[in-house]
Amino acid sequence: MAETISSLLAKSTGYLKEKGSTSPRLDAELLLAEVLGGSRVDLYVNFGQPLSKGEIDRYRELIRRRAGGEPVAYILGRAYFHNLTLKVDRNVLVPRPETEHVVESALKYLMEREWQRPPRMLDAGTGSGAIAISVAAGFPDAEVVASDASGGAIRLAEDNALTAGMGERICFVRSDLFEGLDPTDTFDLIVSNPPYISDEEWPGLPRDVRDFEPREALYGGPDGLDFYRRLAVEAPQYLRPRGCLIMEIGYRQAAAVTGLLGDTGLFEVVQVEKDYSGHDRVVTGCRAEV
Ligand code: SAM
Ligand code: GLN
Repeated sequence: MAETISSLLAKSTGYLKEKGSTSPRLDAELLLAEVLGGSRVDLYVNFGQPLSKGEIDRYRELIRRRAGGEPVAYILGRAYFHNLTLKVDRNVLVPRPETEHVVESALKYLMEREWQRPPRMLDAGTGSGAIAISVAAGFPDAEVVASDASGGAIRLAEDNALTAGMGERICFVRSDLFEGLDPTDTFDLIVSNPPYISDEEWPGLPRDVRDFEPREALYGGPDGLDFYRRLAVEAPQYLRPRGCLIMEIGYRQAAAVTGLLGDTGLFEVVQVEKDYSGHDRVVTGCRAEV
């Protein structure tokens, strides 16, 4: 009997589950929709439709990759983040939903103040450009600089900014944190989702993450805090009076990161926000008036 959408989905879902996917049905549907050039809803509308040999072969190849642990976003070459569709490949971390909290905090900060001149923001470690592009789109007056140490990430982020119509609004710099920036440049806002996985957490990462996403995007040094140490000490000289540093953190890092900001004596207000799962996720430190 010919394979139909329905029979093929049932089989591949079982197979991906066996291979350790935590979302086997969704994965199977996304990949089949891709092969057939439609949406997941189209699959259900055409549930009994028989598939051609070519379609089945192409689908099997995608399922084989997913069964090997490759994230669906890399197989499709795109990910969805805060109203954006972003190109992703193995040069960049797949943007995570919890990172949308960083975007929301940044937009809130920008919207709550009156600006005498266009506010400037730096996204340090921009990866796919997720945060920089979302903030640029959400606050049309902001001037945005986005940096990353990875040339592959910068190329992809620039491409994503162009696609989103933000190419003119964001200046991309390949840089080790602040090293490659103009030392006299200053910002009202510095945002960062730096690598924060520690030695202790590394072995427990899901295979899909550990074996496929760039280690340079994940590993934050032995205790996971290397980038926060640098950001706490280096960011203040690039922050204007009342400027804020907004960082995503691992859910067990709030005390350590607020401590690092406190130790510098340069941040007047330090606060922690939770994500939708109730985990500490965003730490903000703001400089004093002068
Ligand atoms: N901002 C993106 C997001 O939220 O989806 C990517 C975040 S990823 C956790 C961290 C990013 O920092 C990666 O793109 C990585 O290439 C970059 N990175 C790592 N070390 C860096 C460094 N020394 N200077 C600048 N960027 C760095
Ligand atoms: N949120 C990522 C994960 O779950 C880690 C991202 C980071 O290190 N900034 O693996």
